[in-house]
Amino acid sequence: MSDTDQRTANATESCDVVVVGAGISGLYAVHRLRSLGLSVICFERGAGVGGTWFWNRYPGARCDVPSMFYSYSFDADLEQEWEWSERFPAQPELLRYLNHVADRFDLRRDIRLETSVTGGTWDEAAGRWLVTTDRGERVSAQHLVAASGNLSKPNRPDFEGLDDFAGVWHHTAAWPEGGVDLAGKRVAVIGTGSTGVQIVPQLAQQAAHLTVLQRTANHAASAMNRPLDAQDQAAVKRRYREFRQASRESAFGIALEMTPGEPWETGPRYPSVFDFSEDEARAIMEERWAFGGGMALQNAFADIMVDLKANEVVAGFVRDKIDEIVEDPETAELLYPSGHPFGSKRLCVEMGYYETFNRENVSLVDVRKTPIERITRDGVRLRDGREIELDVIVFATGFDAITGALLRLELTGRDGLTLREKWSDGPRTYLGLMTSGFPNLFTVTGPNSPSVLSNMMTSIEQHVEWIADTIADLRERGVATLEATPEAEEIWTEHCTAVVAGTVLPLANSWWLGKNIPGKPTVFMPYAGGVGVYRRQCDTVRANGYEGFAVDGEVVPLAGEEGSAVAIAKDALALA
Ligand code: FAD
Ligand code: NAP
Repeated sequence: MSDTDQRTANATESCDVVVVGAGISGLYAVHRLRSLGLSVICFERGAGVGGTWFWNRYPGARCDVPSMFYSYSFDADLEQEWEWSERFPAQPELLRYLNHVADRFDLRRDIRLETSVTGGTWDEAAGRWLVTTDRGERVSAQHLVAASGNLSKPNRPDFEGLDDFAGVWHHTAAWPEGGVDLAGKRVAVIGTGSTGVQIVPQLAQQAAHLTVLQRTANHAASAMNRPLDAQDQAAVKRRYREFRQASRESAFGIALEMTPGEPWETGPRYPSVFDFSEDEARAIMEERWAFGGGMALQNAFADIMVDLKANEVVAGFVRDKIDEIVEDPETAELLYPSGHPFGSKRLCVEMGYYETFNRENVSLVDVRKTPIERITRDGVRLRDGREIELDVIVFATGFDAITGALLRLELTGRDGLTLREKWSDGPRTYLGLMTSGFPNLFTVTGPNSPSVLSNMMTSIEQHVEWIADTIADLRERGVATLEATPEAEEIWTEHCTAVVAGTVLPLANSWWLGKNIPGKPTVFMPYAGGVGVYRRQCDTVRANGYEGFAVDGEVVPLAGEEGSAVAIAKDALALA
C-alpha cells in the first residue's frame, strides 16, 4: 500500500497548519511555520516544487526582477552562497534554486506532491479547518494558509472548434517538460502580454512560420539582460543586508535607487517629467532604456503613473523605440500600444521582441480589428473569413489571476458561507491577509495586498512572516481563533479602491481588474499603497493587539484615525 493509500484508508489526520501550494510562498511558509514549532502538511498539485517556475517552462520564460533581489532574504548563508548566472535568469535556473531551497531546509518531508486541495470547511464546533484532497485525504488543521498563487490558474479562452483542431496546442503555463518540437511547423501565438513577449522571439527561431495574434499591444521596456560576473555579485553580496532592508521599506519591494555608482543603480525617481526640457527628459528615458528592466523606465518620473500627460511622454518614447527597431512602418504602427496608458497593464520586459518582427518568417495579425471567429481543423479562422493554417497553437493568454486559485479551493466558512458566494461581487479582505467569516484562513499575496505590484519575493516574505509569526503568537497566548471583522474589511477594501483611484492603474482591461476573464467582477484587486507602507500597516495592526480582528470572538477596535493602519497609509501617500 502506498503512503497515500495508507493515509486515505486511515481516519482524518491532524496538524497545526495546512499549507496549499509549494511555490515561493508555500516553501517559505513550511520552513517558517516549522521553525516556530508548528506541525505542517503542504499540498501541491504539481509533480514538483517551485510553483510558477515549475509550471511555466515555455521557451524564453525568465524573471524580470533582477535575480539577486528576486531571491529569498531570510537566510544570510543561502543568499551569500547561491550564485546567479544572469541578471534575469531563465526558468530552469529559477527552478533549480527553489529545489535547492527545498533540499537545503529539508522541506520535502512535509510536502505532498501531485495532490490538489479540493475543499476546505470550517468546523465551528471543533474550531478547525477540515481540508480534503483529490486523493481522498482528510486533514484537520487549526489554521489554513492558502499559498496557492496569484498567477496559477491558467486562462484558456473558450474558442469554438478547438476540439476539431488537427494540430497540437499548448498553454504556456502548462508547457510540456520535454519541450515541443516546432521545427518545420506553422505556429501561432495568441496573446502579447509578458508571456507572449517572452515566447515570441524564441518560437520565431524554431518554427517554419510564426503568426502572432495580437489583440492589445502592450508597452515593453528592454531587458538588457546580461551575465553576472563575480564582481557584480560581490557588489550586492557585500551590502545585502542594507539592500534587503531598503527593499522592504520601498514602494516596489526592490532597492532601486540606493546604490550610486553600483551596477544596480537606476538613477533617482524625479518628481515630474515636466521639470525637464524635452531633450533632457528624453536623455533620462534613453538612460533608463539602456539600463534595462521595466522598473527603471516606469520609475523615471513620479508623475508617469498619476498624470496622463506625463504618461503620454513615456508612451511616446516607447513608440519611438518601436519605430527605431521595427523596419516595416505598418508593422511598427500595429505594435504601438494604444487604448490604455503606459503601465496600466503590467509593463512587459522584452529581449528581442520587437526585432523579431523584422524576420521573414514572422507575421503580426491584429485580432482586435479582425477577431478570431473559431478554430478549425486546419488552424484559425478570422471574422473576415481569412484562414491561417497551423500545426501548433500556443495560448499565451494569461491567468484567472489573484482570486482564481483561491476560489478553486472551494472553501466554506462560518454558517455555510462559501468564499465563492462571499466574493461574488469581487474579493473583500482585511490587509489582503484574511476575510471575515473565514476564521484562521490566511492568504499569502491575497487580493488587496500589494504583492503583484511589487517584486513578489519581498512581498511573499513579508506576508509569510506576518502570518507565521501571528499564528505562533496566538498559540503562545492560548488564542484559538483570529478573524477579520466586517468593519475592518470594509474600510480596508474601500481604502484600496481609494488609493488606486488617482492613478492610471485602473485604466486598462487588465488582469489586475479581472477584466481578462469574461463575467469576472471588475474590481482593482491589488493594493497600490506600496510595500513599505503596507508592511508598517501590518506591523501596526499587530502592535495594536490585532486591531480590526476578532480574537477568540472578542473584537479589537480599530485604533482610530491617528496611528491606525489606514491613517498610516494616508500619511505615506501624502508624503509620496
Ligand atoms: P505560485 O508560484 O503560483 O505557486 C502556487 C502553487 O500552488 C502552484 O504550484 C500550484 O500548483 C499550487 N496550487 C494552487 N492551487 C492548489 C490546490 N488547490 N491544491 C494544491 N496545490 C495548489 N514576479 C516577480 O516579482 N518577478 C518576476 O520576474 C516574475 N515573473 C513571473 C513570470 C511568470 C511566467 C509568471 C506566471 C509569474 C511571474 N511572477 C513574477 C509572479 C510569480 O507568480 C511570483 O513571483 C511567485 O513565483 C509566486 O509564488 P507563489 O508561491 O505565491 O505562487
Ligand atoms: P496577460 O498579461 O493576461 O496577457 C494575456 C494576453 O492574451 C493578452 O495579450 C490578451 O489580450 C491575450 N488574450 C487573452 N484572451 C484573448 C482572446 N480571447 N483573444 C485574443 N487574445 C487574447 O498574461 P501573461 O502574459 O501570461 O502575463 C500575466 C502576468 O504574469 C504578467 O502580467 C506578469 O505579472 C507575469 N509574468 C511575468 C513575466 C516576466 O517577464 N517575468 C513573464 C510572464 C508573466 P488583451 O490584452 O487584449 O486582453
